[in-house]
Amino acid sequence: SAVTEQLLSRIRDIPDHPEPGILFKDITPLLNDASALRAGVEALADPYRELGVDHVVGLEARGFILGAPVALELGAGFVPARKAGKLPAATIEQSYDLEYGTAAVEIHSDAIAPGSRVLIVDDVLATGGTGRAAVDLVHRAGGTVVGFSVLMELGALRGREKMPDVEPHVLLSV
Ligand code: 5GP
Repeated sequence: SAVTEQLLSRIRDIPDHPEPGILFKDITPLLNDASALRAGVEALADPYRELGVDHVVGLEARGFILGAPVALELGAGFVPARKAGKLPAATIEQSYDLEYGTAAVEIHSDAIAPGSRVLIVDDVLATGGTGRAAVDLVHRAGGTVVGFSVLMELGALRGREKMPDVEPHVLLSV
């Protein structure tokens, strides 16, 4: 579609970032373009407008940038999911496997009331480790995951196989 083309034209490939051999998808040109930013935020929110979303969980750090305006679009509150050790109050933590070692994400323990309907937002779905951890955190808090909305999926990394219980909404598949 025209929106897809517009968004794709505002994502640039950065070779060898953050490590040699990684082709990083840089979304800052999309954020920098007023029309693309609006179109992207609206498209991330669109499937969820009538679903009664109470909270948007945004994944550090680009999921904060996209998730907060999606929350405004949906009339929902915003919940930051941060790397371990960053949030100031009591948290629940979910660790996940990386290629080498593990990582963890956290939300505040009181951020999601039991029974809340939650949309998770991030920029990129790669291996799916981060998204899976976020889904598990919401479930542990007693919330219902209404969806997982991302700008871009790196299909070769097969991240969606980690979340058979949540159909990701993806604007761009590469
Ligand atoms: P995963 O856990 O699915 O492997 O990785 C997804 C997380 O890493 C997301 O939070 C995303 O922001 C970041 N990420 C991984 N690869 C890329 C990339 O090529 N571009 C961007 N912008 N983020 C990436």
